[in-house]
Amino acid sequence: MRWSSAEQSRGSTLERQRDDCRRHASENEWSVVDELVDDGISAFKGQHASTGALGRFVAEVDAGRYPDGVVLLCEKLDRLSRQEPGKVFLWMMNLTEAGVTVATVDGSRRYSKGNFDMASIIEVVVKAQLSHEESEKKSQRLGAAWAAKRRRLNSGEKFVMTRRAPAWLDVVGSPPVFIPNSERAEIVRRIFEETVAGFGKAHIARNLNLDGVPPFGRAEAWHASYVQKILRNPAVIGELHLAQKARGGERMMTGEVILDYYPIVIDADLHRRAMLAMKERSRVSTGRGRRLVNLFSGLARCDACSSKMIFRSKGRKQRADGSWVNEDYLVCDGYQRGRGCQNRTHYNYTIWENGILDPIIFEALHEDHAASQSELRGNEIEIAQLERIWEVAKAKADSALRIAIETGRPEAQVAWTALTDEVDIASTKLEEARERLLALKHAPSKEEQWERINGLRASLHADDGDVRFEARSKVRSAIFALVTDLRFHGPDTVGVTMIVGNEWSVTIDYNDMLGGTEWIRGPIDPMS
Ligand SMILES: [Zn+2]
Repeated sequence: MRWSSAEQSRGSTLERQRDDCRRHASENEWSVVDELVDDGISAFKGQHASTGALGRFVAEVDAGRYPDGVVLLCEKLDRLSRQEPGKVFLWMMNLTEAGVTVATVDGSRRYSKGNFDMASIIEVVVKAQLSHEESEKKSQRLGAAWAAKRRRLNSGEKFVMTRRAPAWLDVVGSPPVFIPNSERAEIVRRIFEETVAGFGKAHIARNLNLDGVPPFGRAEAWHASYVQKILRNPAVIGELHLAQKARGGERMMTGEVILDYYPIVIDADLHRRAMLAMKERSRVSTGRGRRLVNLFSGLARCDACSSKMIFRSKGRKQRADGSWVNEDYLVCDGYQRGRGCQNRTHYNYTIWENGILDPIIFEALHEDHAASQSELRGNEIEIAQLERIWEVAKAKADSALRIAIETGRPEAQVAWTALTDEVDIASTKLEEARERLLALKHAPSKEEQWERINGLRASLHADDGDVRFEARSKVRSAIFALVTDLRFHGPDTVGVTMIVGNEWSVTIDYNDMLGGTEWIRGPIDPMS
């Protein structure tokens, strides 16, 4: 099935073509092996024949994937290719020669190796010719029309070039004009003003949701990304930034700007101050090397509403003693976005990272070493076998040496040299195995483990970004291996519960007096 060009991709054309083709296939009792959809690549440019889904299909046919033949069904022939007629003809010939039957819904035609007769050939060529010309004209018409419109706009003329408008503008009348939607324009202004006041996009989205402001698009609530989109849209200050989309390609800004194209809803000064505020915010929150800051992302959840706990950085703050600290918090995403959760607690990240790591490290230290027992046994067996091999090789070598000395024969000397090599190899292997056994028997003591873990813990905050990142990655994977549930309670009793090793439930509480946390653990309640 073929799907034509970018202009058509907006409507229901694809759905309709698909339905028509499916119906036609089922009427003919063909089973559908694949549906080829080339969205937005122009048939006119001839890219289909060598690239895209159709190109892959042709390659598969060439590779012999359909030994029993296959039907290529399309709505109309011109959906397959709008290249020059001669090329289309050759292309169709090759396909049918390779065993493909080309069928069209339109007119119920079949073109195959057997019935590719003169009449069909003429029809194909003529149809291709017509659609080629039509494409050519259409493309020229469109291109010329756009170029003319741009020239008029650039020369200061005012008119609506396309009916597409930002969400806060309506297009009304004939000839059409843009009219600001006053309620929505007011919301856009509010977003810019809150940005100047220092609120981030997430905070602004939350405020809008809390105030019950209906979102512009189809989303059910305001999101930070949509707020960002509005803040970044030059249409608020009236500018149209022209973009060009090559057929099948990406939308690219041409750099051409038409001033005063849209009605202005944000004055230039408010706009400038909002842009400055955004720049300042991003400078503050993306300090160098702050990668992998939150060890619990993807794991931590709010106990009240099960939303994920998200990491909020408020930048750096200077303490009374002059030192700088990162102001980082974990906050319930449901609360943050104004989605009705009451857990407004901002969990100081540094305190809770320490508080959660303590019991996890404790748990890691008390791990059972049952597995290493069998490892030890296997190693002892290996050593016994290697000792036997060494003994046999040694005995042979000794006897060869004896014969060589007694008889003085050269063959005995050669044999002795070879056997000595065998003894050397066996003794190297034996030595290695003995070392492994020593290492296994000499498992690190509790003190050594503490030392190692505390070293890792210090590295979590190392100044060197790479050291820090490596340590944090290690700790993070250990946490994900050990902890299956991590929940933040609030706001009445601030604390965390987590499940460790599917065996223990750990409760961590915040202690106001200590300014830190304390924890207790117990077996998982089998009733819960
Ligand atoms: Zn919540």
